[in-house]
Amino acid sequence: MADMSGKVALVTGAAHGIGRASALALARAGAAVCVADIDPADGAKTVSQIIDAGGRAIYAQCDVRRADETRAMVAATLAEYGRLDAAVNNAGIAGSFDHRLHEAADDMLDAVLAVNLRGVWNCMKAELDVMLAQGGGAIVNMASVAGLIGAPKAAAYTASKHAVVGITKSAALDYARAGLRINAVCPAYTDTRMVQAAVTADPRLAAIMSKAIPMGRLGTADEIAAAVAWLCSDKSSFVTGHALVLDGGLVAI
Ligand code: NAD
Repeated sequence: MADMSGKVALVTGAAHGIGRASALALARAGAAVCVADIDPADGAKTVSQIIDAGGRAIYAQCDVRRADETRAMVAATLAEYGRLDAAVNNAGIAGSFDHRLHEAADDMLDAVLAVNLRGVWNCMKAELDVMLAQGGGAIVNMASVAGLIGAPKAAAYTASKHAVVGITKSAALDYARAGLRINAVCPAYTDTRMVQAAVTADPRLAAIMSKAIPMGRLGTADEIAAAVAWLCSDKSSFVTGHALVLDGGLVAI
């Protein structure tokens, strides 16, 4: 298991799903955690779950689309815990999966890129300043199998996640000799609110998703969080610029 004893981590989009599971996994591994989100009520629940289990956590209200708010999130983490060892840039939205590109709304592309790409950009800028000054740190960006392969009726989301993989690899090279490791994870369909919303909109998707995965089931948020915690920890000390696939075999087909 990853050991994050004495370390400080932040997780964006930590009020739900993979972000919450990652915050809990990092706290279980010993990290003090800044739980960041735009949803204060459910963000507070993540904080409570960590504290109830004996860990340390604070909540930061942060819309990752706003550079001033990502800087404030990092500042709040430093004010509380004095350093930042690991950052999980997880906040993301799906956009719509029901139109081919020529039918899709232009503002849907802008909305998806604002969170999934600009959000990661904003977070990394704020985090890198601190990690460079410290001389070390680990960043994990939340991509997707849609960052590696195409998906029908998902051009905006797929573009955003390919961009996350690209930004991860370039930044990993920029800071490889500065003691910073920067990686991405690429989950396939994982059982969270995001997937549940897609299934509610089109119930046929439940069977389509499970059938698409060779293991025959969706991933769990805890399975993704375990990999996130490993990439945040010193156990992965020689890993940087990697896009770790967590997909039940999907991209092996
Ligand atoms: P989710 O909807 O359960 O959680 C997303 C979280 O991000 C929520 O807490 C939400 O409030 C927060 N968020 C949304 N916009 C935000 C913003 N502008 N600023 C800050 N926080 C914001 O979804 P999830 O499935 O847990 O997704 C988490 C990440 O995992 C996303 O980046 C998603 O693209 C990625 N992902 C999900 C799956 C999947 O199948 N669930 C697969 C691959 C990748």
